[in-house]
Formats: sequence, structure tokens, C-alpha cells
Amino acid sequence: MTSDNFGTWLEIDLRVLRENYLRMVEEAGTLVMPIVKANAYGHGLERVALELQAAGAEWFGVARVEEALFLRDIGVDSNILVLGYTPPTRVAHAINHDISLAVYDMDVAHEYVTQAEGMGKAIHLHAKIDTGMGRLGILLDGAIPFLQFLNSQSYLHLEGIFTHFACADEPEKEITRLQIRQFNTLLEQFKKTNKKPPLIHSANSAGTINFPEARYDMVRAGIALYGHPPAHGMALPPKVTPAISWKTRLISIKELPAGYGVSYGHRYHTKKEERIGVIAVGYGDGLRRRPGNKVLIRGKKVDIVGNVCMDQCMVQLDRLPDAEIGDEVVIMGKQNGEEISATDIADEWGTINYEIICGLAARMPRYYLNAK
Ligand SMILES: *Cc1c(COP(=O)(O)O)cnc(C)c1O
Repeated sequence: MTSDNFGTWLEIDLRVLRENYLRMVEEAGTLVMPIVKANAYGHGLERVALELQAAGAEWFGVARVEEALFLRDIGVDSNILVLGYTPPTRVAHAINHDISLAVYDMDVAHEYVTQAEGMGKAIHLHAKIDTGMGRLGILLDGAIPFLQFLNSQSYLHLEGIFTHFACADEPEKEITRLQIRQFNTLLEQFKKTNKKPPLIHSANSAGTINFPEARYDMVRAGIALYGHPPAHGMALPPKVTPAISWKTRLISIKELPAGYGVSYGHRYHTKKEERIGVIAVGYGDGLRRRPGNKVLIRGKKVDIVGNVCMDQCMVQLDRLPDAEIGDEVVIMGKQNGEEISATDIADEWGTINYEIICGLAARMPRYYLNAK
């Protein structure tokens, strides 16, 4: 199947993804856990996980237990850690499929013990410590008794200890440094009572790049692995580039007379006779219904005019007299040396590139290039 079969699609270059992973491994100098939550940041969980497993990934990180079970279903046998909440009714599934769970609270820990004992099978846990995120994690003052409890239970296997940074992507480094110091103090204290040290991890993409001292035994890389900088002005390791492009086609071209209303609500009127094209992408695909959107056609940036519809929107083609029906249109990605990045779109929409790639709708076919 070639991309000719699609009107609107996402193109994911698996070679780029593989190389990004290998470069992150090189940069980190430690284990890299690809984070594949949210459908692998929009790239398609199945293909991304299988590709990265083949490239050597020993761990995968997901947000939810369904994502972990899906990975087991498709034959992923690397370690999998659920970073978020697991409903008690799903704990048995996790145990049966050797899925590791985050634990961040004593009540939840007791629940896990009860279930694991009942099944006569150990549960693998990573204890999450809140060193300054204010989200999941046991606070520092309760952390030692919590870890000791986990360590004392025969049906619990304390496989990891981790924390998460709130500001690793910000120019101001003091907050992260404090998080690291506090985490280190805890680890020192814990080491005194513990025979076999578990896997220590803390860094997301930004942490991996900006805080080499926080790489420990493993880093948890999401956004950088897909080739996008965690924040403005943050450099990615050399040759880490976006793996995904978002494309559609020009499906109609008309010369509209002067003063003609375009799209719902007639928010745009032609000023003179104008060449207006229709492209096959809309808010049903994740393109926001707001002014200011641009796309690339024949290597040039053109404006989307009028309201974005669910499945289509209109483009101003006066600069492109040669444009033809069927032309490839790039919403995000490169064309003839021009680029619109996820970060560019995020800037336009007042958000972050993470939200752009996670917002790519499920209905769009994911078309994979350079599978191994
Ligand atoms: C999502 C997530 C990550 C990955 O973050 P990036 O900024 O995309 O690298 C790492 N750790 C945890 C706990 C997460 O939830």
C-alpha cells in the first residue's frame, strides 16, 4: 500500500524513530525506557513498540494498564511499567502478564499485597516518590517507611524507585536541582537498609538532556524520542528529528468571484477574484477550528481561510497558480525544504508540541515508512 491510497494521513518514518532511540541511548549512556502512552504520542502504539523492541528497548512506559495489556497482546515481551493508576480489578491481569505497576500510596500498596498473596504470585512494583511535582508519589517524609514496607513483603518485588521532574524543561534549573538532591538523600538513606538496590529512574526527555546527573539506571524518554524538543530553545541530541508528518491533499480548486463568502459563517470573503482550494483535513482530524492555520503546498506556506470544517478546510492559492488537484499538502512536517513543526503549530495554538501530536485523531491512517 502506498500513500496514494489516502486523502489524509500520518506518515511515520520508523527508521527515524529507531535512530532517535539509538541516539537517545547514546546520549543517556544508560537504559532508555521509551514512553509509549497516548498511542505512542499519536504515532501508533503497536508499530512503535514492536519497532523499538526490535531496536533493543528492554522497558516500555505507559500511563494505563490497558496500554500495557495491549502491548502483551501484540507480543511485546520487554518489561512494561504502568506509570499511572491501576484499578484494583485489573491488578490480577497485571500480575498474570508480568506488568510492573507504580505504587505511590500505602493503601494501594496494601491492596497490591492482598491480591498478590491471594494469587500466590509476586507483583513487580516501582515506588513513586514525590520530590516536588505535586502529582503522584509518596511525600519524602513518609518515603522511608513506605519503601521498607514494600521491601518487607514476600509477594512484593520492589523493582524500582522513581520520581518525576516538574520543571526540567525550564531555563531555571534550581527547582530540578532541589528535586535531585532530595531524591539522592532518600536513596542514600534507603541504601543503608536495603540488600539489593532496585532500578532508579527520574529523568523524562528534558531531564535526560539537561541533567546528566539524574540519569541513574534508566531514563524515561517520550517527546525527544519522537523527535520534538521538550521546550522552546531546548536542543535535542544531534540528528534526533521528527518521525511523524501530517499530510492531506488538495481536493478542489476554484476561482471564486470577489466578495464571495467562504466556509461556515462566511468568516472570510474574497477581496477580489481569488483562487481558493479545498483540502481534506478538518477538526475531526485534530486541526483546530481557529484562525491563523497554515499548510505547505508545493513547498510554500499558504493560509487556511474561513472556518475549519470537520473534514475539510479552504486554502488561499493565489501564490500557487500551478497547484493541482491531488497535490500533497503538509500540515506538519517538511516539504521542499520548508517546515511546519509541531512546535510551530503549538505556538500558533497557544499550547505545547506534546498536545499537538497527542491530538492527532485516531481516524487518520498511520502510514509507516522504512519498516525493518
Ligand atoms: C509522560 C512521562 C514521561 C515522558 O515525558 P517526556 O517529557 O515526553 O519525555 C516520563 N515519565 C513520566 C512519569 C511520564 O508520565
